[in-house]
Amino acid sequence: MTTPAGPPASRAAAELAALALIDHHVHLPITGDLSGDGADGSARGTAGGTVGGTAAFEAYLTESDRPPAAGLTSFDSQLGTAVRRWCAPVLGLDPFPTPARYLGRRAELGAAEATRRFLRATGAAAFLVDTGYGATGDPALLPTQLSEMRELSGADVHEVVRLETVAERVARAGTTAAGFADRFGAALQDEARHAVAVKSVIAYRCGLDFDPAPPSHREVVAAAGAWLREVERGGRARVSDPVLLRHLLWAGVERGLPVQVHTGFGDPDLELHRCDPALMTGFLARVEPHGVPVMLLHCYPYHRSAGYLAQVFPHVFCDVGLAVNHAGTRSAAVVAESLELAPFGKVLYSSDASGPAELHYLGALLWRRAIGRVLGEWVADGDWDDADAARVASMIGRGNARRVYRLD
Ligand SMILES: [Zn+2]
Repeated sequence: MTTPAGPPASRAAAELAALALIDHHVHLPITGDLSGDGADGSARGTAGGTVGGTAAFEAYLTESDRPPAAGLTSFDSQLGTAVRRWCAPVLGLDPFPTPARYLGRRAELGAAEATRRFLRATGAAAFLVDTGYGATGDPALLPTQLSEMRELSGADVHEVVRLETVAERVARAGTTAAGFADRFGAALQDEARHAVAVKSVIAYRCGLDFDPAPPSHREVVAAAGAWLREVERGGRARVSDPVLLRHLLWAGVERGLPVQVHTGFGDPDLELHRCDPALMTGFLARVEPHGVPVMLLHCYPYHRSAGYLAQVFPHVFCDVGLAVNHAGTRSAAVVAESLELAPFGKVLYSSDASGPAELHYLGALLWRRAIGRVLGEWVADGDWDDADAARVASMIGRGNARRVYRLD
């Protein structure tokens, strides 16, 4: 590992630089070409043309699904600056090239080679991939995409099955209101047979202030009936009924694997104030007797709420993935805040990279730098012992994920 870690020349810093990370929440990288203005649909399809044809790439530097305001570029952000600073050298450029120069070099090397370089440079030993987003709707293609990521990264790749995606496939394939719950249960059993976790995006679909109790069978049949009629009429098979979403979540709990839950910020499909994980306190209390770990993902700007929940509930864990990338050099502050109330055995590393592999790389690099700075400062101040700093960095970067997901 040649990743520049935090400043102090300590045992913790040395171990951190070499730490074989487990990225416990991440998506498949985009391996196609991202030069151009996005008009070919290679980007999110919403970015307008920008000077230099950088819009396709720029669309991944923001959680917005809108083009930047007139005359502005998403490169003028913490994440955009981090790309120019840290990703440029991986492609053989000096730090801080112009966006056009950067993307020109990327295109020259080819998207596959750039992806390979960034995934390798993460120094990650394993990725836990949410296969419900970024993948094609065709589950038959998934094994190929996962093995491509395995090959490009040289790391282990594990599957996390998204509950809503499974339900939407069941609805599209055709079922009855009365048969939906059983069909979904069977499909989840089948699709999650190789998975290490399931994931819920209930935060996006109805917010986290949902009724914490599992819905009754009658309620599920009624809600499924209304939804299936809508799908039959040619509507999108996007599940958004709170009763169905709660049913999927509880089916996920009963499946027995760790349940990942999106919380905090994300793309503008969500209403941020309804994504504070503290809104889910009643649900977390009800899950506790089931002995199933609940993994609060992203959490920012509610990572302090998440830290509190991780402290009071033995089965609750949290991360600050996504925020680390978007906060760039300020990620040290976010990482420090995530280590206020949360016990160190309850915090996990994730990149939540979704898009070009620059994001997978920056997730790892910025996290190593952030935690190196934070722990290094505590050691330098005499508050922490160097050996403890090394041990805690290794727990968060790797050990906690290995234990909770039983990766052995
Ligand atoms: Zn994600």
